[in-house]
Amino acid sequence: MATGLEKTNSKNPRIHFDIYAILEGSQELYFGHEVQVNVNLVETVKLESKEGQSLEKCYISPTKRRGVERRCLIWAPVKNDILLGDQRNCGIPNTCAELECPICRVYGGLVPGKKTLIGRVTHGGGVGVQDILPQEKQRAMHPAKLVNKNEETPIPFKREYNQPGIFYPVSNHCLSVTDSEFSAVAYAFLDSLPRIGSGNPKGIAIAESQTMPLLVVDRYLVPKGKRPIISPSETNPEVAISEFIRLSELDKATDHCIQSKHFERWIGDAALEKLQDYACDFVDEILEK
Ligand SMILES: [Zn+2]
Repeated sequence: MATGLEKTNSKNPRIHFDIYAILEGSQELYFGHEVQVNVNLVETVKLESKEGQSLEKCYISPTKRRGVERRCLIWAPVKNDILLGDQRNCGIPNTCAELECPICRVYGGLVPGKKTLIGRVTHGGGVGVQDILPQEKQRAMHPAKLVNKNEETPIPFKREYNQPGIFYPVSNHCLSVTDSEFSAVAYAFLDSLPRIGSGNPKGIAIAESQTMPLLVVDRYLVPKGKRPIISPSETNPEVAISEFIRLSELDKATDHCIQSKHFERWIGDAALEKLQDYACDFVDEILEK
């Protein structure tokens, strides 16, 4: 097989899935990026808006989110056994790249010089909505340095933080996976949210408008409808929310669901329930089997 994937059957068809969400920082967040002289910096992106305005925005890079998701799967508890990563002998960066591994078969794996398993889940978005730059905060000396270098004068360090309340529109896309394979992605997406960020504090939530969580899940063979992706030019959180709801085509939905030929969409609470159902399947089929 050119793709390295096994044949599947009519009971386990391969389909595409997308998750779209607006995430909200519940408190200040630090994502290790680079260190300048005693200042730990976070990652920002620079862009020019549609109106020609220069902007610099906070950013949750999709690769960092992907890393946290993979870690959640590695650390998932297997019933009466060791953690999933230990059971599969699959970690970071030493992935097992086995087709039977519930992590590698969707997130991909690499054994250098031996085998490569191409990942079928990709991550997008992450550019903050509000035009708010990270703030620097004074932090105490790192405990390790206090112990090891107690003869030197301690040098406190500063750390930048993404400020709370920033919205981050994000998306996950799965290419030709079975429902069972998608269940790992659903579990990882939900389980990673409280664990996003380096050090402490951590955590990000699915933002809510007055009526619903800002979340959309698509399962399809034909990409239909509009994709709820927010322009990085947008700086107004209210506009971002109303755009997300408009693009989700909630007005065409019955009970927050859209069903048409080769395309299904769940919006808001229905999308959250759908993801939670898939995450339960992952626990039943993989962790508790
Ligand atoms: Zn693996």
